[in-house]
Amino acid sequence: MEIRPGLHFLKVEKKGVVDSSSLVVIRDGEGLICLEVGGGGDENIRQTLGLFEQEGLSVSDIHTAIISHTHADHMGAIAYFRERLPGLTVVDHEVDAPYLRDNTLLNRAFDADLVAEHFPGERFDILEFYAAFCPISETSPDRIVREGDVLGCGDYAFEVIHTPGHHPGHISLYEGNEKILFVGDMVGMEVPFYTPSSGGALGYLASMEKYLALEVDLMIPSHGDLIENAREAIEGAVGKVRRREERLLHALEGPPKTFNELLPNLFRSPAQYMFPGAAVLASHLEKLKKDGVLGEEEGRYRLAGS
Ligand SMILES: [Zn+2]
Ligand SMILES: [Zn+2]
Repeated sequence: MEIRPGLHFLKVEKKGVVDSSSLVVIRDGEGLICLEVGGGGDENIRQTLGLFEQEGLSVSDIHTAIISHTHADHMGAIAYFRERLPGLTVVDHEVDAPYLRDNTLLNRAFDADLVAEHFPGERFDILEFYAAFCPISETSPDRIVREGDVLGCGDYAFEVIHTPGHHPGHISLYEGNEKILFVGDMVGMEVPFYTPSSGGALGYLASMEKYLALEVDLMIPSHGDLIENAREAIEGAVGKVRRREERLLHALEGPPKTFNELLPNLFRSPAQYMFPGAAVLASHLEKLKKDGVLGEEEGRYRLAGS
């Protein structure tokens, strides 16, 4: 749908384990600028091409692709588009660029080692996970952006905001005249997972603070519907993170507990314990430690001073 003149939102409906992200496409004098290119693999790419067709946009007009962050559902199709669009300019944040060039680095950003550490005999490899659900690919960015850079896109000018927490190099884009905020995975259908190496709970909350400082009339998430009441959505996400912390603090009031004993306080389903449970719990423990309220002894956690 064309949400502003020349600014299209190509929404992807939720259906699988890892759904391709929605796309934003902006027309300028040269052709089309794409924010995200969607997941890789035949099915996702067919879906993305179908969305362009439905919207009356020609994929061959794309001259620029802006990547919010190197997660397969947002940019898995980048190699496909790179191959077919010889003049394509790929824009990426400086912190994200290494992951876009070399996907194997993602295991670090996902803190995959936490699984081997806390679940003997188990391992987690994000590239194997992506290969099964949403293929990823690599490319070298042509233009690197940083916090505060402004990307001119036709009639619009989007300011780059670095928003870690979910991924180290995640960016959001703010159009100050139209008061449009693109938030990627940070706000939307659900609170995204956060990992210590991606900025953790602290990084996520700091990114939400950045959002709250902006005047926003329309929020565009990568998953789910457009959001008109941005403040309510942001405060809702912050509230969920704060409630997780409260549950954890409550659990820590009793006798010292191990990492695995604390997991059920944050995640009800054991299927979530390894991922994203371990990474989210480690993020909260790290925050509590920095806040000076967490004590740890021989792998058991308790409230400091208790
Ligand atoms: Zn993501
Ligand atoms: Zn996503």
